[in-house]
Amino acid sequence: MSWPGTCIRREEPLSNHTSFRIGGPAEWFAEPSSVEELAAVIREADRLGLPISVIGGGTNTLAADRGVRGLVIHLGAAFRKLENIGAPEDPVATVRCGSAVPSQRLVMTGARQGWDLVEILAGLPGQVGGAMVMNAQGIGRFVQGLTVIASDGRIQSVDRNALHFGYRRSELPSGVIVEAILAFPRIPAEEADRNVQAILSRRNATQDLNVPSAGCAFRNPEQGPAGKFIDDAGLKGSRIGDAQVSLRHANFIVNMGQASADDVLSLMEYVQGRIWRRFGVALEPEVRLLGESWAI
Ligand SMILES: Cc1cc2nc3c(=O)[nH]c(=O)nc-3n(C[C@H](O)[C@H](O)[C@H](O)COP(=O)(O)OP(=O)(O)OC[C@H]3O[C@@H](n4cnc5c(N)ncnc54)[C@H](O)[C@@H]3O)c2cc1C
Repeated sequence: MSWPGTCIRREEPLSNHTSFRIGGPAEWFAEPSSVEELAAVIREADRLGLPISVIGGGTNTLAADRGVRGLVIHLGAAFRKLENIGAPEDPVATVRCGSAVPSQRLVMTGARQGWDLVEILAGLPGQVGGAMVMNAQGIGRFVQGLTVIASDGRIQSVDRNALHFGYRRSELPSGVIVEAILAFPRIPAEEADRNVQAILSRRNATQDLNVPSAGCAFRNPEQGPAGKFIDDAGLKGSRIGDAQVSLRHANFIVNMGQASADDVLSLMEYVQGRIWRRFGVALEPEVRLLGESWAI
């Protein structure tokens, strides 16, 4: 195999790249250092017929124990640029944001510069690229456009009108998102900072932030919050292997040490079964499985 550039590693453990600290090896793992290198790697994987997956901060991802076949792309430092592209006197702040920018860097910049509503992202782990794919905390409302590298290596700019965001989901052009244009109305910086601090203290009080997890395991069904059903069914603390339903936040599954992806999947299946039998409510996974398709 003759990969372009020097950014490819073999058999990279995905447990090093997920907040769950779970996951077998990626057959091939690329951390390209430019858009050109990324495009070349994608073209080569396409030519070789290898499946391509992307991992951002890995905070919404459960990577399979058996690992992932093909190429896993992880965007590195070259995709962490964040720059103002509007005039300071504009009523709206417009920024160009690389996909690998940590969501919390975006929030802290917004708190300093006075961006309204940036607080909805306060405390959200992971990167801006992953947040857009998940429409985490409704980040889609700020997105004005995206740049994507398609599977043939072509660079495509996509306008807001062609993007669709829903509850914890999005319809975006397929490919690797490399950057986005985001816009935020301006407010005084002290007010933006206050808004962010208020959300951060609420999050710290309610979420299990010190134990490895991928945040909420299940999407909220239309009947109400998934965590409330799980709590009402008495499932907090349920455990399979080292995977446990958090004692603090019932919709979090936490890795108590050496949990495997199979432990987490079995526990999710168990929770789904109990909630279905008790309340007739179907829980759907919010966590994305990398390396296999959901059997539950
Ligand atoms: C403690 C904790 C709290 C959390 N709280 C919240 C919360 O309050 N609200 C919420 O919505 N979520 C929450 N999450 C879930 C998660 O943090 C978000 O969904 C986050 O935005 C995912 O970003 P990521 O970079 O980690 O994505 P990843 O897990 O790396 O990827 C998510 C998806 O996006 C795709 N992807 C990532 N980057 C790209 C790219 N550049 N191009 C194309 N596809 C890409 C991946 O293939 C995958 O399908 C929480 C997670 C944890 C661990």
